[in-house]
Amino acid sequence: MPKLTFEGRVAPHRCGKILCIGSNYALHAAEMSSPLPVEPLIFLKPSSALISCNETVVLPPQSQEVHHEVELVVLIVRSGKNIDRRDALDFVGGYAVGLDMTARDLQTKAKAKGKPWSVAKGFDTFAPVGDFAAASTIEDPQKLEISLTVDGTVRQRGSTKDMVFSVAELVSFCSSIFSLEPGDLIYTGTPAGVGPVTDGDLIVASITGLPELRVDVRRI
Ligand code: MG
Repeated sequence: MPKLTFEGRVAPHRCGKILCIGSNYALHAAEMSSPLPVEPLIFLKPSSALISCNETVVLPPQSQEVHHEVELVVLIVRSGKNIDRRDALDFVGGYAVGLDMTARDLQTKAKAKGKPWSVAKGFDTFAPVGDFAAASTIEDPQKLEISLTVDGTVRQRGSTKDMVFSVAELVSFCSSIFSLEPGDLIYTGTPAGVGPVTDGDLIVASITGLPELRVDVRRI
């Protein structure tokens, strides 16, 4: 399993839980015809889905429609439970650019049947994450520009100011359910513009102040 990297070196913590937030930007919820959540919508990915920058997203044979979703990823570096929102950012040690790769066809079927998203979201290579920057270098995680290109064409562009639930609210809420531990990740949701990728594509994802994330796409 690939290791998390922090400021260009192997991070001191192994990847723990990968918590992901759905429908956390209003325009993306609208493009998915999903209602705006009244509380954070959480799902999980297995750590076996993790890959690093310059690795390859593998399109699985079970899906004909895999989408990119660029997301700000939060690295938890302190243990905590029932964390107060006002203290929440003290538990965040780093930020990175991530991709919540999604087998949209499988997710749509699962949604229609009221079934979980684990398969649609959890294939190997479906959780790319870039090098983490220290949280201390990010003045305000709610003021970051976020974008994604596929083969040089801009597909997603947004700002973390448009999150429905802020990073602090997400850390607090997640910790009311799951004990947070060093090495846990939170994928904080994607802005509008998600779409399919195909064999041979190069995805480049960027967030202000964070190392760029580049992955290519292969169908094997
Ligand atoms: Mg997502």
